[in-house]
Amino acid sequence: MTRVHNFNAGPAILPLDVVQETAAAVLDFNGTGMGIMEISHRSKEFDAMIKEAQADLLSIMNLSADEYAVLFLGGGASMQFLMVASNFLKTSADYIVTGVWAKKAYEEAAMLGDAKVSASSKETKFNQIPKTWNLNPDADYVHITTNNTIYGTEWKTLPETGNVPLVADMSSNFLSRPYDFGKCNLIYAGAQKNVGPSGVTIVIIKKSWMEKANEKLPTMLNYRTHIDNESLFNTPPCLPIYAFHRTMKWILKMGGLEAIQLHNEKKAAYIYDVIDKYSDFYKGHVVVKEDRSLMNISWNLPSAELEEKFVKEAKALNMVGLKGHRSVGGIRASTYNALPLESAEALANFMVEFYNNNK
Ligand SMILES: *Cc1c(COP(=O)(O)O)cnc(C)c1O
Repeated sequence: MTRVHNFNAGPAILPLDVVQETAAAVLDFNGTGMGIMEISHRSKEFDAMIKEAQADLLSIMNLSADEYAVLFLGGGASMQFLMVASNFLKTSADYIVTGVWAKKAYEEAAMLGDAKVSASSKETKFNQIPKTWNLNPDADYVHITTNNTIYGTEWKTLPETGNVPLVADMSSNFLSRPYDFGKCNLIYAGAQKNVGPSGVTIVIIKKSWMEKANEKLPTMLNYRTHIDNESLFNTPPCLPIYAFHRTMKWILKMGGLEAIQLHNEKKAAYIYDVIDKYSDFYKGHVVVKEDRSLMNISWNLPSAELEEKFVKEAKALNMVGLKGHRSVGGIRASTYNALPLESAEALANFMVEFYNNNK
């Protein structure tokens, strides 16, 4: 089997080790004579695996299990847009709107209560992270989206929010760099960008914050249910959790988040360097360099025809997933954790060649 250069935005490339280990576990999970799709989520073998995945994640993030609970939930990151607001929006909440997903999170919350846009980069087509915001010191929480998958901007550090709890949608740069994760009361991420297949969403929640949560909620929407039942109130997505477990082992083997960040910086540099060198031809969407994402790189060519040609010729060279999101067009290369250095290098070389042939 040949693996292509996979620049898909999500579901996306996974480490080959993770894919192979998960494939093996579909046939036989840890010598049980049953596949991971066939074993009870309440068996001792599954229990040991899920607990190890939680512990590995907290150790990678440098968080303590006394303070934080790790949940594995269904419904995608989109479900968290409404769960966060259902549980914690009482008086009002602040949303920093930096792209399509951030806006969706805000819109869900606005259906449930008084959600406010405290900063937005919409006027400039989300080509940067706002540097000033209007935070209400009495807000129930502030919500940010640490990486904007479609436009390609990224928060390089988490903002200071004083006493106001910080909630972060980290779906598209989860575990791609170290952050001061302890600044957050709640972090969530759909697995399918950086930590596994679709089907599971990881939620990390500060347990003490639950004292402030709304009490009267449908069972499945209530974080308390999932904390008390250790993510086993309903049958969890067993196979995606196993792939997540293997991804945590892979991150540890790679040397943790500092090493992963270096690897991601090298890959992104290949592509941004070409964009900067041939800026008359390749127009990066993000204008503020420090806000450029290491995970999703978006740019335009001089015409839609050239963009189509670019995607087509890249495909002939085994590079897939380069078409920009349908809402913005252009080109997007997603360079998630699992993308090898060689793939970024191959794309950069192709970009130079394409420039020379089409300028
Ligand atoms: C992909 C993505 C989502 C949506 O994830 P689903 O799991 O499809 O609901 C939300 N937020 C961000 C930042 C994303 O990249």
